[in-house]
Amino acid sequence: MPQVELRNISKSFGSVTVCHDVNLIIEDRAFVTLLGPSGCGKTTTLNMLAGLEDPSAGDILMDGQRVNERSPVDRDVAMVFQNYALYPHMTVAENIGFTLRMRHMGRGEIRRRVEEVARSLELGPLLDRLPAQLSGGQQQRVAIGRALVREPRVFLFDEPFSNLDASLRIRMRAEVKELHQRLGVTSIFVTHDQEEAMSISDQIAVMSKGRIEQFGTPEEVYARPATRTVAAFIGNPQIDLASGRVEHGADGLICRVGEAELALPAGTEAVAGQAVEVGVRSEHVQLSDTGAAARVRLVQPVGPATHVTLDWAGGTLTATLPGIARLAAGSATAFAIAPENLLVFDPDSGKRIG
Ligand code: ATP
Repeated sequence: MPQVELRNISKSFGSVTVCHDVNLIIEDRAFVTLLGPSGCGKTTTLNMLAGLEDPSAGDILMDGQRVNERSPVDRDVAMVFQNYALYPHMTVAENIGFTLRMRHMGRGEIRRRVEEVARSLELGPLLDRLPAQLSGGQQQRVAIGRALVREPRVFLFDEPFSNLDASLRIRMRAEVKELHQRLGVTSIFVTHDQEEAMSISDQIAVMSKGRIEQFGTPEEVYARPATRTVAAFIGNPQIDLASGRVEHGADGLICRVGEAELALPAGTEAVAGQAVEVGVRSEHVQLSDTGAAARVRLVQPVGPATHVTLDWAGGTLTATLPGIARLAAGSATAFAIAPENLLVFDPDSGKRIG
């Protein structure tokens, strides 16, 4: 049985609809991320799951039961916020144990649970400190501990790392993922950082303008994006897109972009004469002696790889080459793209057709 389900959920604030008919099924023990640009409705969706906002229409189910009318405390969910709001005058132990005290749990039992959570988050030596005496990462771990100690059925994370610096954010990502692997508590995570979503999730719901564009594994949304919007939002460097027209080539359909001819993947749902948009990820652009003519514009080594920006008839194109590539800006080159690595979109609907 799916543990959490959103059925035809819509949400309006006054005359503005911010969630349109959202459907989502989250399996028990899954780690699911709601990903999308600022304002697409991620936090509103999470708040409806938490019981902090009422949906305007639709049902929220947990363990098969409709919970629309249930208060936040009766939903057995715990939320970790971006501004983790620790109580400044309470120690780490008191912060973690706070909700248990509110539930009038016995002192011995609170102590046992707090110590167990502190151990799993490596906060043991810090239990007597005040929040002001902790680093940002430690404070965030206390906030997670405070949620964890309640042993909730579902964890909700609202951009929990956005106030942390880049390297700490990456470390916390790994910590949360490890914690999830260890405890297996169903987790729903909100972020606008696609790399964070890719690295941490079992499945990602890519949202845009209050709708779910695609729900799939990181691999699915990256390699087989359902729409141009998903393709453009996921991946760094960003996917390159170019407009072209379908023609018959020697070995099947091709897309003509300026002078260049790019072979379309087998099974592309397009006919000769049709306008399409084609996209390619940088690691699938191969520099070669033959192929479409291009000129090297910019060479950017980043350590394990080099990003090379090319000028060609269709505009610019980024090729990611392994290691440090020795290429001169301004030099002539050519590139090829294996047909199976070309993504083809309908320019009107934005849907992927090949
Ligand atoms: P961010 O990443 O910036 O937090 P988000 O994807 O989480 O964005 P939401 O916070 O869910 O987006 O907001 C979605 C839309 O709903 C936004 O346009 C926002 O201005 C609007 N909105 C959110 N809460 C309210 C409210 N209480 N009253 C009116 N409009 C609201």
